Amino acid sequence: MQYFNELQLQQPIAQALQSMRFEKPTPIQAQAIPLAIDRKDIIACAQTGTGKTAAFGIPIIDRLLKHPQKTALILVPTRELAAQVTEVLKDLTRFAPSINGAILIGGMSIRPQIEKLRRGVRLVVATPGRLLDHLDRRTLDFKSLDILVLDEADRMLDMGFAPQLNKILPYLPKTRQTLLFSATLPANIEQLSARYLTHPVRVTVGPVSRPVEKIQQSIVETTAAGKNETLVDELHARKGSVLIFARTKARTDRVARHLKKYGHSVARLHGDRTQGQRTSAMAGFRDGRFRILVATDIAARGIDIPHIANVINYDLPLVPEDYLHRIGRTARAGAEGHAVSFITPEDKAQWRAISNFLGKTGKSSAVFVSPRGEPASKFAGNTSASRKKFSGKPRRSNPRRRPAGRPA
Ligand code: ADP
Ligand code: MG
Repeated sequence: MQYFNELQLQQPIAQALQSMRFEKPTPIQAQAIPLAIDRKDIIACAQTGTGKTAAFGIPIIDRLLKHPQKTALILVPTRELAAQVTEVLKDLTRFAPSINGAILIGGMSIRPQIEKLRRGVRLVVATPGRLLDHLDRRTLDFKSLDILVLDEADRMLDMGFAPQLNKILPYLPKTRQTLLFSATLPANIEQLSARYLTHPVRVTVGPVSRPVEKIQQSIVETTAAGKNETLVDELHARKGSVLIFARTKARTDRVARHLKKYGHSVARLHGDRTQGQRTSAMAGFRDGRFRILVATDIAARGIDIPHIANVINYDLPLVPEDYLHRIGRTARAGAEGHAVSFITPEDKAQWRAISNFLGKTGKSSAVFVSPRGEPASKFAGNTSASRKKFSGKPRRSNPRRRPAGRPA
């Protein structure tokens, strides 16, 4: 399939794709959509930013248009992802008023959700915890469920949702189509798929877990005490919006506070914030009111904001796979992006683990060493001469920068 219009999709979905200016399917879409329309169960694995949402959204809506009684359920690991998937589905159903949806996530009052369900919905996007809540209250049933999607399945398992998923399973009709989407395929995905899927067809695009080519990766050596200063230098040297990852909620808050002191516009995202705070942080970062978003891993998973130019690993991720998820937040859908990781002497073992992991996926040589304060873009597109492996060489420190607005 070269173009969407070869697919003979129902008119309202074809029209929506036109208005979204989606003409050609991405590789995962080209493989998965015809199989999904063919009613196959699918395990689809592709790196982040490759268009997996529309890869299930398009066949679902096509199906619901053909069968006006049927419904679909999309399970996602986080509230932010639920909101993001819902946005895409809204775009895709713009010309299909008969397909109404509900978003069932925690952190929001359950009453309006119940009201909405009572009026009947055909497209449910949910996180596992809140969905179970509704199922226990019998505020929704899945008698007419036709398609189930497990999105970001690897993350759902990482986040410990397996028990909830197992409780949800008995509520679902046995005859249904199940589509599983994931950025990586760890062993526990196989167990999940054995429970949920029937004779699945596997669709894998690109080497598993490989970051998008366009991401320029670099590292900056620093110390635990020097991280804040290094961060301010990096923010001065870089252009465009920045997503910063910190290890804990408390560290996220601390980094944000530090940057505010230097006059930066900063939003924060972590699990201790209220749903309203999380939503407005995301919205403010998305529309450019905040140049910077500081977040923990869980909160940032799957976020698709096309303009993220830089990802900064203020703290290294604890799990090597998370490195790929983090840097996959930049360079979405083929745009250019930079990822820089701060490495302290204490981090070296962890960085080695990440490098080994990347090495297995063939990406270790793409990690550049960038002198402190210099943008990684200096190295962009250079020949292999500038490609250095992690050397552990000490580096002269930059002159201290003052907070913005303060006289010298
Ligand atoms: P993934 O779930 O694989 O990480 P997303 O579904 O979030 O990726 O899509 C990443 C970006 O690519 C989104 O901004 C989306 O609008 C864009 N995109 C998806 N499919 C297409 C397409 N066929 N043509 C153009 N842009 C697309
Ligand atoms: Mg996705």
